[in-house]
Amino acid sequence: MPNKPLLLGVTGGIGSGKSTVCQLFAVLGIPIYNADDRAKWIVSNDLETRKAISDIFGPDSFLQGEYNRAFIASIVFQSPEKLQQLNAIIHPAVGRDFELWIKLNQDKAPYLVKEAALLFDSGSQNKLDHIAVVHAPDALRMKRIRQRDPQRSEDQIRNIISNQMTQEEMMKRASFLIDNSGKTLLIPQVVAINSSIVRDI
Ligand code: ADP
Repeated sequence: MPNKPLLLGVTGGIGSGKSTVCQLFAVLGIPIYNADDRAKWIVSNDLETRKAISDIFGPDSFLQGEYNRAFIASIVFQSPEKLQQLNAIIHPAVGRDFELWIKLNQDKAPYLVKEAALLFDSGSQNKLDHIAVVHAPDALRMKRIRQRDPQRSEDQIRNIISNQMTQEEMMKRASFLIDNSGKTLLIPQVVAINSSIVRDI
């Protein structure tokens, strides 16, 4: 059974152009749920989530009330088990937050968009009706990320990319592909996906 309203996931590796593509959907009047931004908001503001994180990672998880991202990252980077425990707290919390957001936005447009870097890894793809994967060559992604995030070194970026699902894997699971190599304009691709989803409703 399709969702009502329909839900479109937009994903892709770091620097592929997810946020850029979502800005285009927003121009068409489609509400956008940014799962990564909401996860950051939740670890800063949701008391239940904060307590669950402290229980596992200890008092250093928060520094003067602020989520200690560097500390948590240093632990989960070395321990897949701890990463799994962290995800088991954050993914359901984002899932609940998304459900609430759907209720608040469902009457605003024929479909809603969820933007997430981890759409397949978190299992949340099952709840979506369509998934668009944004892709671009690695060298171009590297160049764009270096311009966007000058504080990140090439090594750090390569490390993030190698820890993500490969673009090829994501593309195999997509219902729509969005080519952000610069060879094809983005706007007509987004408009075509919008038309295809709206036509089928
Ligand atoms: P993601 O959200 O997937 O990490 P972004 O949408 O932030 O990627 O894109 C990465 C960077 O590349 C941003 O600074 C963005 O403005 C730029 N960018 C994305 N797509 C294009 C494009 N087609 N042409 C030029 N710059 C682009």
